[in-house]
Amino acid sequence: MNMRNRTTQTPTPAFSDDRELSQFLGRTRRDFLRDAAGLALGSALFRPAWAKAAGSRTKKKVVVITFGGGARDQETFMPEGQENIPHLMSELIPRASFFTQVVNRGILGHYVATASLATGVYETFNNFAAVSPESPTVFEYFRKDLKRPSSDAWVVAPSNGFNRIGESSHRSYGTGLGARVILPKRLLTAATSGQGHDYEHLLRDNYETPYFTPELLGQEFELTQLETILRLSVDDFKKNARTLSSPDELSVYIARQLMRQVAPTLLWITLHDIDVAHAGAYSLYIDGIRRTDRLCSELWNAIQTEPEYAGNTTLFILPDFGRDSDEDAGGNGFQHHRTGDTLSRTTWMLVAGAGIREGVVHDRAVDSTDLVPTLGALLGFNTAFCQGKPVQEVL
Ligand SMILES: [Zn+2]
Repeated sequence: MNMRNRTTQTPTPAFSDDRELSQFLGRTRRDFLRDAAGLALGSALFRPAWAKAAGSRTKKKVVVITFGGGARDQETFMPEGQENIPHLMSELIPRASFFTQVVNRGILGHYVATASLATGVYETFNNFAAVSPESPTVFEYFRKDLKRPSSDAWVVAPSNGFNRIGESSHRSYGTGLGARVILPKRLLTAATSGQGHDYEHLLRDNYETPYFTPELLGQEFELTQLETILRLSVDDFKKNARTLSSPDELSVYIARQLMRQVAPTLLWITLHDIDVAHAGAYSLYIDGIRRTDRLCSELWNAIQTEPEYAGNTTLFILPDFGRDSDEDAGGNGFQHHRTGDTLSRTTWMLVAGAGIREGVVHDRAVDSTDLVPTLGALLGFNTAFCQGKPVQEVL
């Protein structure tokens, strides 16, 4: 096991409260990005002409990527970590508005935290339960308010445990108004009739809870939909899957098929490879970060080249939360996110594409629950039950 991270980290100065520490982390990221990527603070450098001319709200699309289960700054947005995120640093961040202080005040489990990102409310359900979010999801707001069909909002999710993320139990929304959720591993299991021995590296379901892998009852995504929606034959799918190296690669492959064949207005992709860190191998965790960085670039390039998305799509990339610091005695460094410390709660957000100012860094505090109202303001739908506020800098 490579433990070099334990010896190279600069100690974090002492702060009187969490807010001060979050601010310090935001400024540290800002200064790093200013030096390493040449970003300016706050106000716009310029707004490209094509962005001003970006299509009307009816043509606008949004892609949200959650950045893979959380990484720490010393492996990403610090001088010693930037080698792990070359695509973010050189391709995406120079084209983006980057927020260095996104604070998550909720529960640090992946399903409940991702659901909170998708509802704009800190959900409090048991992370490991097969339940729907209680507050309406962004997909329900979008579909109900704009009268969009189910084909227009999709989630690509990493684990069977996420199968209910598309639709809440809220009485004013809920049944029939949510996103279609596609579980690539479930598709692959169905395509191989459960005999997917050659694909085991793609099928690992949950890094966090080896004791809990929910079995789905019924066919929530029929195999025939592989052909009717994704336009993939079972044989082609199996053949292509053979070339993929991880569950997130499988998810991105499916997401690209969805973009090409269905072109939903609202597409949410939850990446999860980085969370292999729970297994304790630092090198696998680093591989996960590098792969996630590359896959974000692939999706960005897909947005630029798919005719339905090019020029009218805004991309949001943000982690659900981070990981424990080396300094907290209650944790075990990069491996978990158990302590709930400020470092693991202070994340970031990258916004790029149609109408977004390029090469700008914002270090004011943004809340994890601000994502949904921002998407609502961007696409023109009401998000009445959200806790957060729209991020004005990207509107
Ligand atoms: Zn985890």
